[in-house]
Amino acid sequence: MSDCLFCKIRDGEIPADLVYEDEHVLAFNDVGPQAPVHLLIIPRKHISTVNDMVEDDVLLMGHLFAAAKEIAAQKGISEDGYRMVVNCNAGAGQSVFHIHMHLLAGRGFSWPPG
Ligand code: AMP
Repeated sequence: MSDCLFCKIRDGEIPADLVYEDEHVLAFNDVGPQAPVHLLIIPRKHISTVNDMVEDDVLLMGHLFAAAKEIAAQKGISEDGYRMVVNCNAGAGQSVFHIHMHLLAGRGFSWPPG
C-alpha cells in the first residue's frame, strides 16, 4: 500500500475537497490555503518530483496546465489571473512528494516569490 498522502486522496482513503477530476488528473482544495483560491492539481500517476519525470510523462504534465485553465474558467478567475507553482524537492519547499501544481488566486502576488 502506498504511503503517499496524495495517492491516498486519489484512492479515496483520505478525504479531500475535490474540485475537478478527469482521467489524468484531479484537483482539490489545499488544507492550508495561502490565498482565497488555493487548490492542488495532481496527476493520478504517482511521480515523486519533477526530477522523477520520464519522457512518457511530458504529455501528462501538460494535462496539469489544461486542468488549471479549465478550473480557472470555472471559478471565474481567468481574467484577473492566477499563479501556478510547482515546488521541486525540499529546498524549494516541496513537502508532499507526489508532483502537484498549486493554483492560487484571489489576491495580489508579488515577484520574486518568497
Ligand atoms: P508543497 O509544499 O509544494 O509540497 O505543497 C504541499 C501542499 O499540500 C501544502 O500547501 C499543504 O497545505 C497541502 N496539503 C497537505 N496535506 C493536505 C491534505 N490532506 N489535503 C489537501 N492539501 C494538503
